[in-house]
Amino acid sequence: MSATLCNKSPAQSAVAFPPPAPRFSSEQILIKPKMGINPATLANFHAAQRAEVVRTFAGIGDLQIVRFPKGETVPSFIQKYQESGLVEYAEPDFIVHVAATAPNDPYYTNGTLWGLNNTGQNSGTVDADIDAPEGWDVLTSASNIVVAVIDTGVRYTHEDLAANMWVNPNDGGHGFNALNGTNDPNDDNGHGTLVAGILGGVGNNGKGAVGVAWRVQIMACKLLDSSGYGTYSDAIACIDYARTNGARIINASWGGYGYSLSLSNAVDEARSAGIILVAGCGNDSTDIDIAPFYPASYDLDNIVSVAYTSRYDVLGSFSNYGATNVDLAAPGHQIYSTFFLSDSYYLGPISGTSMAAPYVTGTFALMLVKYAPETHQQIIRRVLAATDPLPALSGKCVTGGRLNLQKALGPPIRLTVIGAPNKKPGHKVKKERLFQLHLSGDPNRTYVIQVTTNLTSWSPVFTNTTSTNGTFDFTDDQSTNAAHRFYRAVSSP
Ligand code: CA
Ligand code: CA
Repeated sequence: MSATLCNKSPAQSAVAFPPPAPRFSSEQILIKPKMGINPATLANFHAAQRAEVVRTFAGIGDLQIVRFPKGETVPSFIQKYQESGLVEYAEPDFIVHVAATAPNDPYYTNGTLWGLNNTGQNSGTVDADIDAPEGWDVLTSASNIVVAVIDTGVRYTHEDLAANMWVNPNDGGHGFNALNGTNDPNDDNGHGTLVAGILGGVGNNGKGAVGVAWRVQIMACKLLDSSGYGTYSDAIACIDYARTNGARIINASWGGYGYSLSLSNAVDEARSAGIILVAGCGNDSTDIDIAPFYPASYDLDNIVSVAYTSRYDVLGSFSNYGATNVDLAAPGHQIYSTFFLSDSYYLGPISGTSMAAPYVTGTFALMLVKYAPETHQQIIRRVLAATDPLPALSGKCVTGGRLNLQKALGPPIRLTVIGAPNKKPGHKVKKERLFQLHLSGDPNRTYVIQVTTNLTSWSPVFTNTTSTNGTFDFTDDQSTNAAHRFYRAVSSP
């Protein structure tokens, strides 16, 4: 019953459990060579340790994945590198895991996407949602925006995803598989396919679910194995792939409690490229200001860290939180989406911050279209300023609010006729009236009024910037000369 949850708000009763001890790879570490070190000297040192360089990331300060020989331990091996004087740092290759619970009912496919529009179905709280239908009045498509889903892979042949998959122009693939180094990121777990459907399930196709963005380009990057586990080094390889292949947003519905400079550096390189990384903040009912969870907790201005809320607009019962390290919340309770078991399989209900992050990611895809000229900082500021404040989130995240797509996108552009020509053919009037329009949209934003006579070729006739109340009026002094003129307004880039 809803009353039970409402009476016992998890936001108030959540206990900060100690986080699990970080796990790390027992085969390899990450090192960053000191600036200006002779590569041959470092190579000799590797050889003396019988170590093998698995990969070097030229774009991240020549960061190296180093595999060590049998009989060696991670702490002693790290110590050898730290004492060598050749590296800026050496650190474990931590294991990350998915930020979601296992689905509790694989055959439950009732399609109740309450997070997009909550009218109180299943005893939920009316309007505990992101106001997606209202947001879609403004924009539904982000078809030119590439979103990297770094996860367990994506079932790219799924009927509700195939049309929205990014295609690599070089190899025709849909992304990258860091586990085997191929261009086949197919999903063998299901988690990434759920995430993909939430942010970008094909909308208005008469099938299955609908993403926050109806059209988008989903780049699948496989970091997590069939059990939902992966390493920081593979996360870094995926971030590197996303950065160098044109992704604008990364969805990271995973994380770990081990601090890593390497992972931070990889996200910082993405930051330099203007890429927004949306991170689930984890599912251990833990305050991640006290027990940081990465990448969500890194102090980088391109990371947006997401907690999850329920259909009752309270913090999810096992959501992590953090007044500083978590930015906002989004729906993540009893979510329903595309699944990997077949091309027409859908799964729900499933809960967790993994499901909340893609609501935010899909919103950013639409925001990058609407506010194309703006920087990632400006666009993040808009989304964070547009949340719905909730009592249950007060003190639990920076904004104390839940995502609202409609508020983030701003009002739709509307053109209203406020005056029309009074001249009829063959008649003379004393004073001719002209065609007058009233535009309403965002405040302090520049719009172009365009006109056409054939509905095919549009010409700009007027450009103006709205006042603080988001409006301006326009009079078309050519309107008495033409029989049919049609108008539209577009926002100026
Ligand atoms: Ca609503
Ligand atoms: Ca669909």
